[in-house]
Amino acid sequence: ITVLGLESSCDDTAAAVVRLGPDGPRILSSVVQGQTALHAEFGGVVPEIAARAHVERIDLCVEQALASAGTDLSGIDAIAVTAGPGLIGGVLAGVMCAKGIAAGAGLPLIGVNHLAGHALTPRLTDGLEFPYLMLLVSGGHCQFLIVHSPTRFERLGGTIDDAPGEAFDKTAKLLGLPQPGGPSVEAEARGGDPARFAFPRPLLDRPGCDMSFSGLKTALLRARDQAVAEQGGLTRHDRADLCASFQAAVADVLVEKSRRATETYLQARPDDPVLAVAGGVAANATIRNALEDLCKARGLRFVAPPLNLCTDNAAMIAWAGIERYRLGLVDGLDLSARPRWPLDEHAPALLGSGK
Ligand code: ATP
Ligand code: FE
Repeated sequence: ITVLGLESSCDDTAAAVVRLGPDGPRILSSVVQGQTALHAEFGGVVPEIAARAHVERIDLCVEQALASAGTDLSGIDAIAVTAGPGLIGGVLAGVMCAKGIAAGAGLPLIGVNHLAGHALTPRLTDGLEFPYLMLLVSGGHCQFLIVHSPTRFERLGGTIDDAPGEAFDKTAKLLGLPQPGGPSVEAEARGGDPARFAFPRPLLDRPGCDMSFSGLKTALLRARDQAVAEQGGLTRHDRADLCASFQAAVADVLVEKSRRATETYLQARPDDPVLAVAGGVAANATIRNALEDLCKARGLRFVAPPLNLCTDNAAMIAWAGIERYRLGLVDGLDLSARPRWPLDEHAPALLGSGK
């Protein structure tokens, strides 16, 4: 089975070709065109600009993906496209393009949930068996899922406000560091004192796996302003300590909630217990190491796909498309784009699938 995947739900326009052969899946091509520069002067993704850029670029991305896979549409069995959740203008751009190709070439169309794409990636990269525990931690999302099947995701909890990536980005903004904030805050935190500022670890006193990260930026802002008021400015040291303390707070919350998530997950008695991560924040070495330690202590395998497959890409969409195609889950040309689409909600197409 060879599937062409399209992704355009946020600020990356992407197309990829993935083939499932007798010796497992192979990514034949994966083209990602980012839009960071387009949005840089606005300090965040501007939906209208993103949507326009997707419309302008997606055809070329598809052509490039087919060309570098060494095929054309005659070598493709189905078209998979992100149908949500995300910025609706961008999602629509991808869905319209996919419908055009599907109708023109007479190929089946498969609508994929973007989050399912992230959550199923470790099966593409590491061949994981169900059920595995997934921590999806990115610029827009943060949730724990037990992945039971390509269509069954049990959500154990997640952020009730900001995503950690967003918190990293805001922290960078408040401290005058470059975007995206994750890598710049992590670099700045090196050599900083993670214990100097006692930033909040919200919801740790409550049961369950829900998290909150929005209070962190207020605390950081207060600490920054206090340092500025007392000393007339921020030294390199202050900035490093602020970043290190912030990062430690995020890591603590993620690790403690991961510990609770593993408790629930282990009750499902998996043969080969695995905690997998996805999303850009999984690139953070402090967070990654802390999660690895947790896994070691609890007897779980820690799996982190390569970073370019952890962040937004179309190979994960093509792969999720393959998983659905094998189950006979194909959509019609009336497939609609959805700005909101929780993973544990059963879309009408899934009813009757017995899941
Ligand atoms: P989503 O996939 O949820 O729609 P997104 O596309 O913004 O959101 P990703 O591309 O997965 O998310 O990840 C980008 C986020 O990851 C940014 O917020 C960025 O700051 C963060 N990030 C990247 N590298 C690091 C790092 N080393 N440490 C912490 N955060 C990081
Ligand atoms: Fe994403």
